[in-house]
Amino acid sequence: MAEEFDAVFVGAGHNALAAAIHLGSRGWRVGVFEKNETAGGACRTEEATLPGFRHDLYATNLGLFAGSPFFAEHGAALKPHGLDLVPAEDCFASPTPSGRWFGVSKDIEKTAARAAALSPQDGERWRAMFAAFPAEAPHLFGLLGAPMSWRSLARLGWAAWRAKGARGSLDLARLLASSPREFLEREFEAPEVRAALGAWGMHLDFAPDIAGGALFPYLEGMADQANGMVIGKGGADTIVRAMVARIEELGGRVDTGAEVTAIRHRFGKADGIRLADGTEVTARRAVVAGVAPGALVDRLLAGTSGNASFDAGARKFRHGPGAMMVHLAMSALPDWSAGEELKRFLYVHLAPDLDMMAIAYAQAMAGLLPEKPLIVVGQQTAVDPSRAPEGQHTLWVQVRMVPGTIRGDAAGTIAATDWADAGEAYADRVLDIIETYAPGTKAKILGRYVETPADLERRNPNLVGGDSIAGSHHLSQNFLFRPFPGWARYRTPVDKLYLIGASTWPGGGLGAGSGYMLAKELAGR
Ligand SMILES: Cc1cc2nc3c(=O)[nH]c(=O)nc-3n(C[C@H](O)[C@H](O)[C@H](O)COP(=O)(O)OP(=O)(O)OC[C@H]3O[C@@H](n4cnc5c(N)ncnc54)[C@H](O)[C@@H]3O)c2cc1C
Repeated sequence: MAEEFDAVFVGAGHNALAAAIHLGSRGWRVGVFEKNETAGGACRTEEATLPGFRHDLYATNLGLFAGSPFFAEHGAALKPHGLDLVPAEDCFASPTPSGRWFGVSKDIEKTAARAAALSPQDGERWRAMFAAFPAEAPHLFGLLGAPMSWRSLARLGWAAWRAKGARGSLDLARLLASSPREFLEREFEAPEVRAALGAWGMHLDFAPDIAGGALFPYLEGMADQANGMVIGKGGADTIVRAMVARIEELGGRVDTGAEVTAIRHRFGKADGIRLADGTEVTARRAVVAGVAPGALVDRLLAGTSGNASFDAGARKFRHGPGAMMVHLAMSALPDWSAGEELKRFLYVHLAPDLDMMAIAYAQAMAGLLPEKPLIVVGQQTAVDPSRAPEGQHTLWVQVRMVPGTIRGDAAGTIAATDWADAGEAYADRVLDIIETYAPGTKAKILGRYVETPADLERRNPNLVGGDSIAGSHHLSQNFLFRPFPGWARYRTPVDKLYLIGASTWPGGGLGAGSGYMLAKELAGR
């Protein structure tokens, strides 16, 4: 007889784990089934280069997780299972080739002085924006943590209008509608300040001129100013190991090496899943899929949900451009030409101005390997030395944005159009760029491990074309339109079958939003 659970989950991404914990804590018996050998999806830590060097293969910044409503409710129960977070006071910095730079540290005096040195007006503007943040934050985080319905939007709009009046509410709406460039040119003079914030838009798929892209640069800048950044002690997978242990403590199960090949449904109602080895698992109350919409319909529902408009929405769901990862084991951190102080920052963005970001994005969207990509250099061992042997370091190098399918090379030097052949050559280009900002870096490399967009998708099918956020966040696919109009509340045309994960509202990142919001609705609280 098939094993029975109240809820079964397809995939052990952090949203599924969060939902399983919440339902488990409300007495549901949960089973999570993951195709990989470890849980966590795009939150995974491995000794990928050399023994003793622990690399966050994908996500590393745990700010969204630590600040999430899920963490507020369940974080205390994770700590006995080893959850350990490390704060970073010096958050992110962007040097330019000329050696000027701007960076955000938790100490407002340091940040404001750096801005003022570039432009006196920007120093004042930074202080004023930060002073206003406590009044803005509840509205913006309230929006990101709310289920997407007309009713909750109306409630949020009303609350904003009461607190801020008509003019203040308009300003908020204008921020939500603005592109990063519109917002940053409105607020700041110095190109270095604009670039340092604009780089955060590129962590989603917001190039400087994409409407709706101002929110993330604003929030990351202000939240990091207020709280600093946070990573996992020994690796981002501290959250995954603790979540799995908590599920087991609650009587649930997390099976790895267990690929789900089909969702069972009869008379329009889901009642379980089938695994690749033929095992049948029964779900009494819910089947929850944490997968990309296209995979739900085409792989797990054998081509149709029974609703043509849902199927079309799932197939036309837009993925963003790809990302590529270069992991390095290092004898020492880079010697940044812009100054010794940059060694202390968790993130160093090599993206000196908004125009170069716009060009890199346009090239990636046209299928070209960008000539000068945006590079994020994560220096985790600057704040968590436990990730490498004593005195040595890891570097987490993320390349944003690159095409999932290569049509050519904007620099005209890489002939290969297959990531298997182009990957190492493109990684060399990335290291050459780092070398121009920090001469001698290449000589410090002890080991390297590259994951191309194709590798990202192979290891996690949700990252279609290496799209690290599992679906574009542009306005036409966000808010009420995520994953597509009419289906923003995690339901599907099949009764008792739900879709969560980064492809659904509120999107990518480790904020556990979709899993937690669905679980609260299923459990009734
Ligand atoms: C390179 C990179 C860097 C990132 N950096 C950050 C960061 O610093 N901070 C941050 O907050 N976010 C970051 N993100 C985004 C964040 O990691 C993801 O948005 C988040 O992990 C998505 O979680 P999820 O719950 O949707 O599931 P996922 O993490 O996508 O996991 C889904 C899981 O489902 C499994 N699965 C899929 N189909 C099946 C099936 N049929 N059967 C069984 N299992 C299946 C997959 O193997 C996978 O393990 C990054 C992402 C990437 C790729």
